[in-house]
Amino acid sequence: HLQITDVTKNFGSQAVLKGVNLSVAKGGTTAIVGPSGSGKTTLLRLIAGFEHPDTGSISLNGTVVAGEGAWLPAHKRQIGYVAQDGALFPHLTVGQNVAFGLDPAKLDGGRRAAAARVAELLEMVSLDASMAKRRPHQLSGGQQQRVALARALAREPELMLLDEPFSALDAGLRVATRRAVAKVLAEAGVTTILVTHDQAEALSFADQVAVMRGGKLAQIGNPFVVYTRPADRATAEFLGDAV
Ligand code: ATP
Repeated sequence: HLQITDVTKNFGSQAVLKGVNLSVAKGGTTAIVGPSGSGKTTLLRLIAGFEHPDTGSISLNGTVVAGEGAWLPAHKRQIGYVAQDGALFPHLTVGQNVAFGLDPAKLDGGRRAAAARVAELLEMVSLDASMAKRRPHQLSGGQQQRVALARALAREPELMLLDEPFSALDAGLRVATRRAVAKVLAEAGVTTILVTHDQAEALSFADQVAVMRGGKLAQIGNPFVVYTRPADRATAEFLGDAV
């Protein structure tokens, strides 16, 4: 369970988050939609632990990870993060990139077990195990993005943060990859937050949609309700533009 309470964040004189409250149930999936610059990525980066909130708090499964004098660094949060551009390590092979996310303490069989797990993770995101030997620059953008997803899944996160992870994929692959990832996350019961501009994606992936506007969440609710009964005119206009 993720709880965000009254979180604010300023960059210089710019107030980017102006009091965000959001609750995501364990195993639930929330899609965050909203105009460019409304603060969606900033909110994900705060949850991941890449930035400190100015005020307010963030707690994960009952533990305060940021705020109220508490701070748990990013690498100690059981969180997977996939950015828009994947951000793979260019000097490592695909297999090494995915293996980077594995926890050695959870692997009994040493290197062979790690290689088997890497192959399994690549298969989850519809990539052939033979890709493991390649370098990121030898892959297409869409393939690199799926490697980034596999690397994040390797961490067995309690919370997965996805910042438009499918937007670089072509239409067919986007649907297939989205379904594969949704299935993996659901089976593992991973709580997920997805930032997306794609209405179909929000409707198919999420059990809760949060509309971000000007650093605040203008509406939070069941996807069907948010899309059919937007809380105000600006939200209706934004959602209308988004389809
Ligand atoms: P998009 O849909 O375009 O990705 P977004 O809703 O994710 O937008 P953010 O990336 O969170 O928006 O940015 C919100 C605002 O905060 C922008 O005006 C941006 O310029 C500013 N901002 C974000 N990070 C920083 C930073 N590190 N330093 C200064 N300003 C920042």
